[in-house]
Amino acid sequence: MIDPFGRSVTYLRVSVTDRCDFRCTYCMSEDMTFLPKSDVLSLEELDRLCSAFIAKGVKKLRLTGGEPLVRRNIMTLIKSLGRHMESGALEEMTVTTNGSQLGRLAGELKAAGVERVNVSLDTLDADKFHAITRRGDLGIVKDGLQAAKRAGLAVKINTVALKGVNETEIEDIAKWCGDEGFDLTFIETMPMGEIGKDRSDTYLPLSAVRERLDAIWSLTDIDYRTGGPAKYAQVKETGRRIGFITPLSHNFCESCNRVRLTCTGQLYMCLGQDDDADLRAALRASEDDQVLYAAIDEAISRKPKGHDFIIERGQSAPAVTRHMSVTGG
Ligand code: SAM
Ligand code: SF4
Repeated sequence: MIDPFGRSVTYLRVSVTDRCDFRCTYCMSEDMTFLPKSDVLSLEELDRLCSAFIAKGVKKLRLTGGEPLVRRNIMTLIKSLGRHMESGALEEMTVTTNGSQLGRLAGELKAAGVERVNVSLDTLDADKFHAITRRGDLGIVKDGLQAAKRAGLAVKINTVALKGVNETEIEDIAKWCGDEGFDLTFIETMPMGEIGKDRSDTYLPLSAVRERLDAIWSLTDIDYRTGGPAKYAQVKETGRRIGFITPLSHNFCESCNRVRLTCTGQLYMCLGQDDDADLRAALRASEDDQVLYAAIDEAISRKPKGHDFIIERGQSAPAVTRHMSVTGG
């Protein structure tokens, strides 16, 4: 699949549910409205859609959400998709999770062919963790991370940089990841979906994060890529990499290789634009995958050049109305 700007689309992110057991302040409001359950694709339909993308050249699949691991019987889908890892059609299958279910599922994930999980963790302080997630328990997530380690899963921590919330913890989080053997990526807040407050209050550009790290360690920019948008630096003192995802202060669209599928079968060709393609209609129109392939081709031909995210003080309306939990992070 090649888009109009010559970019090859090899990476599919699937939000298997928009529901979540947490309510992170930057992601959702406390009284978030979720998609009607009747609109959500069955696990069999998600399998068929993912398999169609793999047949069309997707090599990397990430399951995300909402919280993917709270969807009922999600392991049935993950185990079934594992056949594409076994056949070699898929090079990587990963999961982005808040970690709340890892204690229970880490072993099964590894057995199904998942080698790596991205776990979101914005603070190492239990009270702050509860305040950010509104419902989460840091102890449970930390136990889940140990279970992931024991199961042999590689772990990458995703930390959203939040001014006045975790900016003084940046070094501690980086040090802790180094000690635990976890990779780490910092993310800037993106203006996606109404959260009932102005995101510019907590927006922290990653240049500030980098400055804090540069003050204590020697960081060298490196060319390492994981197929995602992060730019990496190597830390001499810890021997580990730190990634930086800077959608606002540095536009990363030139090398974009991904598309995103929602749990209702909408395909978003760009995280930061509203245009979508209704693959549920194509999926249900015929049992013949050719109809689906044609709909996918048509969608890829509409992949835009890039996003237009900006976060400005006083401008509380998000750039796109959809929440990150709908399109998947
Ligand atoms: N529930 C899982 C989790 O938290 O990892 C997967 C879905 S979550 C939407 C994926 C990632 O998006 C998380 O790392 C989260 O911190 C990040 N995220 C959510 N809303 C965001 C926003 N508005 N700006 C930047 N990152 C956001
Ligand atoms: Fe849930 Fe992930 Fe959004 Fe937090 S960031 S509310 S864990 S979907």
